[in-house]
Amino acid sequence: MDTQKKIVLTGMQPTGLLHLGNFLGAANNWKKMLDQYDCYFFIPNQHAITIPQVPAHLRSATLNCVAQYIACGLDPQRCTIFVQSHIVGHTELAWVLGCLTPLGQLYRMHQFKDKSAKRENIYSGLLYYPVLMAADILLYNADFVPTGEDQRQHVELARDLAERFNATYSPTFTVPAPLIETTGARVMSLKSPEHKMSKSDSADGATIYITDKPETIRKKIISAVTDSENKIASHPERPGIFNLLNIYCAVTGIQLEAAEAKFKDYTGYAAFKEELAEVLIKLLDPIREKYEAIKEDKEYLYAVIRKGNEKVQPIAYKTLSKVYHKVGFLER
Ligand code: ATP
Ligand code: MG
Repeated sequence: MDTQKKIVLTGMQPTGLLHLGNFLGAANNWKKMLDQYDCYFFIPNQHAITIPQVPAHLRSATLNCVAQYIACGLDPQRCTIFVQSHIVGHTELAWVLGCLTPLGQLYRMHQFKDKSAKRENIYSGLLYYPVLMAADILLYNADFVPTGEDQRQHVELARDLAERFNATYSPTFTVPAPLIETTGARVMSLKSPEHKMSKSDSADGATIYITDKPETIRKKIISAVTDSENKIASHPERPGIFNLLNIYCAVTGIQLEAAEAKFKDYTGYAAFKEELAEVLIKLLDPIREKYEAIKEDKEYLYAVIRKGNEKVQPIAYKTLSKVYHKVGFLER
């Protein structure tokens, strides 16, 4: 029964097409949780506007994101997919939680420091982002939040706020735990492998998208940055080949040592890169085909979102009215 399962909640910002890192480090792990947990995968479009977006792009990226979740194997029959801005409750709860959040705790967030350092104009939404994320999680009493290491601090804030609210008023929220996947790959850029592969990286050939065609994948892998040592080995100080080997292992499930042994007699990188391109094509082909088949089917995609809304909106209202009552807001 759904009600006995622990609740998992997570999402990816609709800031662009999903890439190999999003798949290997996130969606592929989420897929394995479908039967064990009651899974909520949402599209955090309200988070996306903490960085300026082109409105038409944001709209289409949001719907595309639904299609990409499904194409990655997040079967909407076995999980709940919804769009953050459709649900009344996220921003409302964030306001209440914000009134329990010390400003200093927000200024200390690594992501705020990183993202604000790159911008001239810093808006308060970027600072407030972790409070909204806490609301996303607490609104549904999520038990677990699968996420990358980069989000650990934000989940810590959600835990603090759950505990603070429970102590200030009375027990209300489940204290969520992060599920940080350490075995999943951290995929690095193909052009500057000291940085992670990212949706917002516009460098040509740096990112493999889950929708890339075979010839594009081959081209990007062949031109991926390596070094002049011409030996296939996993030394972190050789980040280019280290990254490619890690990708190979994450896709094939082969251990790093076994992969090194397999390729030890190869001279140069060309043959290895060809093999890597082929395993990636085999991995991504069905995802791209599924995406192509459903991405224009707006009726279907909206039906998936509507089904998600119907499930989560009553839960959000219930939590919100409980919270409003506890903080002393007058009944409507
Ligand atoms: P943006 O550049 O807009 O921040 P992103 O590529 O970092 O986009 P997010 O939407 O921030 O993607 O992250 C979605 C999920 O994918 C998170 O769980 C995050 O930890 C994971 N993820 C993002 N990039 C990588 C990567 N290069 N390798 C492994 N996992 C990743
Ligand atoms: Mg990110």
